[in-house]
Amino acid sequence: MQQKNKILGNNESTESYTTFNKRYKKQELVLGKEGQKKLAKAAVAIVGLGALGSNCVELLVRAGVGKLILIDRDVISLDNLQRQHLYDENDIGKAKAIVCEQKLRKINGSIDIIGKLADITWKNIHEILKNIDCIIDCTDNLFTRMLLNDFCVKNDVPLIHGAVVSSKGSLYVVSGKEKACLACIYSDKINHETCDSTGVLNTASSIVSSLQANECIKLIWDKHPVEPDFLRIDLLRNSFERFGVKKNKNCFVCIKKEFRYLLGRIEQKAVHYCGSFQYQIKKKDFSKKSSFLKKEYIEIVSKLKKLGKVVDLGYCAHFDDLTLFLDGRVLIKAKDEKEAKMFFDKYIGN
Ligand SMILES: [Zn+2]
Repeated sequence: MQQKNKILGNNESTESYTTFNKRYKKQELVLGKEGQKKLAKAAVAIVGLGALGSNCVELLVRAGVGKLILIDRDVISLDNLQRQHLYDENDIGKAKAIVCEQKLRKINGSIDIIGKLADITWKNIHEILKNIDCIIDCTDNLFTRMLLNDFCVKNDVPLIHGAVVSSKGSLYVVSGKEKACLACIYSDKINHETCDSTGVLNTASSIVSSLQANECIKLIWDKHPVEPDFLRIDLLRNSFERFGVKKNKNCFVCIKKEFRYLLGRIEQKAVHYCGSFQYQIKKKDFSKKSSFLKKEYIEIVSKLKKLGKVVDLGYCAHFDDLTLFLDGRVLIKAKDEKEAKMFFDKYIGN
């Protein structure tokens, strides 16, 4: 999914200065030429391309951030369209990372946009997030948030956290050694996965994702301080509230430097996807060699074709309530984890 640049915003040898000026004319009046150039030189990763990520990344692409890495493990479903920007009815069943990359390149061909269809884990996070100036947390689960928090605190990379439930949203920027980290704020014993039962307004996710993109631009621009507090909004009351956050003096991450998620000491088995009766289970015996992965993938797809209709997109295959990916992950729609495991054993096996 590597992009071949047509016009490079961060490379003045291939993009004419006039084109660069025209595209960002209005924004330059605010950021100045130097600010715009800083954006063009920056590399930002967006983790999660759902309601928050798909809007946030569109704003950053239009703003001219030079390099964007887009990471998501999921495919698009009909109920995503209510709030997830960039996707339409023709995209249902396709991977968010791939669709996002394709659509964003049409918006701005002058920057590097790299979509990664991947489940970010302690094993691949260093490779995926290397040489990144800022990471935006647009995920919907605490486990990935804690993994990103470990990575960002350890490597001193700013993390822009956003979350949204119902009509409410929150924003917090982890940056610098003095500020509290996400582990100071959220207990990893609490299940924050609540959008299943409470739903979410698209207006709330749009505002929070816009705030995330805004903090990212401010961080890169480096002229105005980033948000110091934990910000909480409620769209039904039109309220914006600030909460000062102190470091937890016993924090495992920013005080004790015990990066348990990053070291793989806390791992997930079956993952429950927020907002759906969907579970992710990994095939244990999938090899890390891509040639072998492809071979296994093809074998399973041909086995499933004997049992019913399979839609094979090359990078993932849909069969009934199962979606198999090239990296060995399987998404399963089921009423609970037990039923998901039963379907996995029946159709995929280990
Ligand atoms: Zn902390």
